[in-house]
Amino acid sequence: MPKKSDHYYLTTPIYYVNAAPHIGHAYTSIAADVMARFQRLLGKQVNFLTGTDEHGQKIQRAAEAAGKNSQEFVDEISVTFRKLGDVLNLSTTDFIRTTEERHTRGAAKFWEAAAGRGDIYKKKYEGLYCVSCEQFYVEKDLPEGLCPIHKKAPELFQEENYFFRLSAYTEKIAEYFDAHHDFVFPHNRWKEMRQILVEGLEDVSISRSREKLSWGIPVPGDPMQVMYVWFDALTNYVTAVGYGTNEKFFDDWWPADVHLMAKEINRFHSLLWPAMLMSAGVSLPGKIVVHGWLTVDGEKMSKSLGNMVDPFEIVSRYGTDTFRFFLFREMSFGSDGDFSIAKLEQRYTSDLQHDLGNLLMRSIAMAIKFCDGKIPQQTVGDNTEVWARYHAHMEKWEFQQALEGVWEYVRALNQLIDREKPWTLYKEGKFEEVNATLYILLEGLRQTAIAISPFMPDASVSMLTALGFEYFDPKFDSLTEWGLLKSGGVLAEPHPLFPPLI
Ligand SMILES: [Zn+2]
Repeated sequence: MPKKSDHYYLTTPIYYVNAAPHIGHAYTSIAADVMARFQRLLGKQVNFLTGTDEHGQKIQRAAEAAGKNSQEFVDEISVTFRKLGDVLNLSTTDFIRTTEERHTRGAAKFWEAAAGRGDIYKKKYEGLYCVSCEQFYVEKDLPEGLCPIHKKAPELFQEENYFFRLSAYTEKIAEYFDAHHDFVFPHNRWKEMRQILVEGLEDVSISRSREKLSWGIPVPGDPMQVMYVWFDALTNYVTAVGYGTNEKFFDDWWPADVHLMAKEINRFHSLLWPAMLMSAGVSLPGKIVVHGWLTVDGEKMSKSLGNMVDPFEIVSRYGTDTFRFFLFREMSFGSDGDFSIAKLEQRYTSDLQHDLGNLLMRSIAMAIKFCDGKIPQQTVGDNTEVWARYHAHMEKWEFQQALEGVWEYVRALNQLIDREKPWTLYKEGKFEEVNATLYILLEGLRQTAIAISPFMPDASVSMLTALGFEYFDPKFDSLTEWGLLKSGGVLAEPHPLFPPLI
């Protein structure tokens, strides 16, 4: 049975648990959550996977440094990633750990499938290895002999390893790229990968000797070797949905619609992973979506600069919704972006407190005063175009433009109040005009609440509650259909959505 068309399967990378989560993890996860929630608005059943990558040299060493055994160490850090998910209000449906049995069994099956195809062979190898990247480098890719990401000298490793015949897939993947120009998104990332294919792919080491690395999944049939982290890690996307353990579930969900990640691991997802899947005889994911890096006040985040942003801290100070909104309102998803508290506070005051918060407070206060606290008589209206644009942007991961459109609409509603001055109309006895204006405002707020729900789920519920909804399961239809706010409904006095910052 092929995957059902109303099933949407979306993944974040599994996060490497050698250190606590930072804002980069939060950024990726929230972006995925925005899309997961948007797909649910469209009526899709969503499988939203995240998790932790728990094997490898770096982790073994970090555990040793912390004086813990590896399992104890990964258990602790994995919990902080789960907590981050709660704090960020992620609607994930699954959390995989590569130390789980469903994964280790599935990964072993995957290895056997690729080996059965003749794509795995053993050879003696000597190379420069960056432990922080968990990756071998060739000299030409090491400016001044240093790892381009970690700026430190790689270590010389010599051992006998298993290799994956990635070179054999250069042609096939290039053909796939040429037939699927939207396989990697945004398109400049597709172009980068296509260029690498022109240069050709080299076989990659996919195991380590147990003497060097004991913390990993044993290679099937050779317990003296453990799987190299990428071959282990990437398979999480299939093992989570039952590859090698639950065939029916696998058919229901695979292929994934989207793998989402930051640009530094695009290459593994766009080139190595498809080759692995082809080798194992498994179909390819729909799309690889790549986002840029966050800087902080114009500087790259790093421990040594001491400018690491702790997402737990931001959320406890400004609230989850504010943080989620800011990341996508301020920065263009896909490109690099700059995070700054000053800009966050500015957005909070202008967009949230002033534009949206005031609109809700003013509109409901007027309805309470001029319409007996009830939703007035319905009037005709049509926002089809506003929401069609929103829809188009959301589908293309253009979250910033989608939010810009919503805020244009919010500002238009504020201008409507300033122009119509319902309090003056009321004094003049023009009750029909008062009702008409207020209905437009309240129905507009209902629609706005649905449109912002992927970004600010809590604010969305607060708005709908203030509009008298006790229970509301929003769908995209209810966003585009005018007049679902029924006249006569009782409004609730709202709490300020966005109280002043202290
Ligand atoms: Zn490195």
